[in-house]
Amino acid sequence: MNLKHSLPCLLLLTSFALAQHAAPHKKTAKAAPTTRPKADPALAIHQSALIVDTHADTPQRFLDENFDLGQNTPVSEGHIDLEKIKQGNLGAEFFSIWVEPEFKGHYAQRAMDLIDSVYQQAARHPDKMTMAFSADDIARAHDQHKFAALMGIEGGHAIENDIRLLRDFYRLGVRYMTLTWSNTNEWADSSGDIQNPNVKHHNGMTDFGKDVVREMTRLGMIVDISHVSDATFYQALLVSQAPVIASHSSSRELTNQPRNMTDDMLRAMTKNGGVVMVNFYSAFIDENYRKASSDPEKIKQRDAEVEAYKKAHPHADGSPVTYDETAAIEKKWAAQFPRPPLKSLIDHIDHVAKVAGIDHVGLGSDFDGVTSLPEGIDSVADLPKITQALYQRGYTREQILKILGGNFMRVMREVEATAKRLQSERKESDALSFEDIELMVGNRVNSAQLVDRIRQHGVNFELTPERRTRLKAEKVDDSVLDTIAKVRKK
Ligand SMILES: [Zn+2]
Repeated sequence: MNLKHSLPCLLLLTSFALAQHAAPHKKTAKAAPTTRPKADPALAIHQSALIVDTHADTPQRFLDENFDLGQNTPVSEGHIDLEKIKQGNLGAEFFSIWVEPEFKGHYAQRAMDLIDSVYQQAARHPDKMTMAFSADDIARAHDQHKFAALMGIEGGHAIENDIRLLRDFYRLGVRYMTLTWSNTNEWADSSGDIQNPNVKHHNGMTDFGKDVVREMTRLGMIVDISHVSDATFYQALLVSQAPVIASHSSSRELTNQPRNMTDDMLRAMTKNGGVVMVNFYSAFIDENYRKASSDPEKIKQRDAEVEAYKKAHPHADGSPVTYDETAAIEKKWAAQFPRPPLKSLIDHIDHVAKVAGIDHVGLGSDFDGVTSLPEGIDSVADLPKITQALYQRGYTREQILKILGGNFMRVMREVEATAKRLQSERKESDALSFEDIELMVGNRVNSAQLVDRIRQHGVNFELTPERRTRLKAEKVDDSVLDTIAKVRKK
């Protein structure tokens, strides 16, 4: 079905690309054959592709810098704008709704502001871009030659431990969520602080964390395992009923970064049917760069400079100084280390393609969120160079189209189909989930009514000590807890 949808468009674009190459030839028909421009097969593949990138941190620039996608920016300031998107033939971008942990107490509000900033861009440039919420939306935008903007939350702390907020974010159009960012939250461990003994860890995920994964699967929000600890990763794969993604993660075998994925994890992704979108950041794709830039003395010096800036430029309203404001310092600091060759990035794509399989690899640039990119990749406009490099390594047109976006589109459709199935199954067997109970409690359904409904429908979950504590915290009556325990035994 997806083939039916995308094939005519691909063919049209290919013939368009060929026609473009043929045109100058016609004009110079009388010139010697040696001057005939040689068709570049890699470029033709690139121009015919539906390209999806699953991670860019541009929303901070929208919100904190008042940056407009219509502005043509120098690459030293930003990696993405509409002109560069056109040059790179990017079809769809997942804009990251990344909430810095410094916004404690206001996570959801900050997320809402970032979400709004993406919608504002789409409203300002309706002729060139459109919001998209499904694989069909992305394909439709591509047919209309419009850039599709999607949103993914980076860091599960944004839902403020409230499953209702998760649903609200889905309603607002968020289509993936990384379970954690670099910070462990109250329900899932991160790779970013897993060695820190001062952080309270959970051996992966708590029961609530697993409920979050289940609810994401039911909603059709893609579970994103980038940034999580290894234990969280394996647990998420066990719990999720749909394929998952790593929206921006590279290979740990090639570059020894705890945030990168081991070969065993890559093989688990194959089994899960998901896709690993390779991160372009120099420190994640090149061991030399990683080593040089992880010198503790140099990091100390950078952190001190950032802290000094924050102290010297406090916000009048007391809100945190954002990453965006100190990015210039970080970029200047990163520039002291030589950029890795483009080959390092291609090696990672190649490695994931070999270990996880050609159907499980894609692109997750991390544009506008990283301080260093490999040589030749200055912005989204340089995406054709990746296609060229893959082509030179012997990747076929079909394989390249999968990497550039085909694999992600397949996963997104599978996640959508799973959600549809789970939602219809829920209607058939109506045993109450823990979510249902919590929702009723939140809606002030009284104890007698709760007991009644639980007896009538039964429950589909175990009343673990953690769940018991959660219900108690919401002042749920013992009679309700006893009924749950009783009907579950039956
Ligand atoms: Zn990230």
